Amino acid sequence: MKPVRVGIVGAGQLGRMMALAGYPLGVRCTFLDRAADSPGGQVAPVLLGDLQDSARLAELAAGSDVVTFDWENVAGAALAPLERLTAVRPPRIALEVSQDRLTEKALFSRLRIPVAPHAAVNGEAQYRAAIRKLGLPGVLKTRRLGYDGKGQIVIASAQEADAAWSRLGGTDLIYERFQNFSREVSIIGARGIGGDIVYYPLSANVHAGGVLRHTIAPFANAALERSARAHLKRVMLALDYVGVLTIEFFVVGARLVANEMAPRVHNSGHWTIEGCVTSQFENHIRAICGLPLGSTRPLGHAAMINFLGIMPERARLLAVDGLAFHDYGKEPRPGRKLGHCTILKDRAKDRALALELALRLIQWS
Ligand code: AMP
Repeated sequence: MKPVRVGIVGAGQLGRMMALAGYPLGVRCTFLDRAADSPGGQVAPVLLGDLQDSARLAELAAGSDVVTFDWENVAGAALAPLERLTAVRPPRIALEVSQDRLTEKALFSRLRIPVAPHAAVNGEAQYRAAIRKLGLPGVLKTRRLGYDGKGQIVIASAQEADAAWSRLGGTDLIYERFQNFSREVSIIGARGIGGDIVYYPLSANVHAGGVLRHTIAPFANAALERSARAHLKRVMLALDYVGVLTIEFFVVGARLVANEMAPRVHNSGHWTIEGCVTSQFENHIRAICGLPLGSTRPLGHAAMINFLGIMPERARLLAVDGLAFHDYGKEPRPGRKLGHCTILKDRAKDRALALELALRLIQWS
């Protein structure tokens, strides 16, 4: 059988884990990335170039049966010509919507998915008006290219409002009311080219400074899971989506408030590599290649911990029973996602104990 050729824009850890999931299926990935020694470049060939370079993107598309994304911020104008060369999955519209926090929230609202009260901020007068209308505390965020807490500031007082404006003023912004959430959860699902959909169990996510620290899954809450699935399905149908899609929510009282979506595999789904029959990476590859989707059945109680800034001592972590270790092959730098580990146990109680033990062996910087 001829291998399917997948072109991946960006060779970060997400692309690397997609390529690794593709190999056993006979799927061969090629990356477009600026660096040959990137996490993806260590496991599959790389076409060297800027991720927005139209000539390089065209070259990637010409040699691929389907193009997909590790990095979803490629401008729509650079993506449109690729559609004449090959299949682009997920669809361009999904990337365009999620690149701008305002259009993303507009889509959620149109689909009756609750979001935090918010206002667009273009200029200082609108900023002051937004604070008057929505009150404090709130969060000022850049509309584009913000991730992992970058490009956003929590504001609790008038002084903080001034300081935030001097840091972020001048770009397109959004101001949203601070959500007093009890938890953060995410739903991940995959939609095939025939319209079939599979959903992973809900993940409960713990962030610090806007960055994911650890995830516990399945987060068993039938009512929240039903509602998260319904929201995800509505977005998938509205965008005629193909591939893996993630939505992150705040749990406020008994309801979900959507924070943002990612048109790709997600950090909060890394536990599915060991924790489910079919991982999010394999299901993304299956979906975009037109293959049947795999079972998302959980295999136990999982916890995933990110390695941020400092790589923990491998041998000490591997001594924890039921732990799987993932090193992305990156140079350590403060705050950088260098790898993760996943713990899988038959009982929630044992997972909690192993998580506690592993957390004691991991430092973040
Ligand atoms: P984001 O970049 O939008 O995913 O935000 C990163 C993290 O910042 C979230 O996971 C929350 O922990 C926090 N955060 C963002 N927006 C809000 C908000 N409106 N209210 C409370 N916390 C927020």
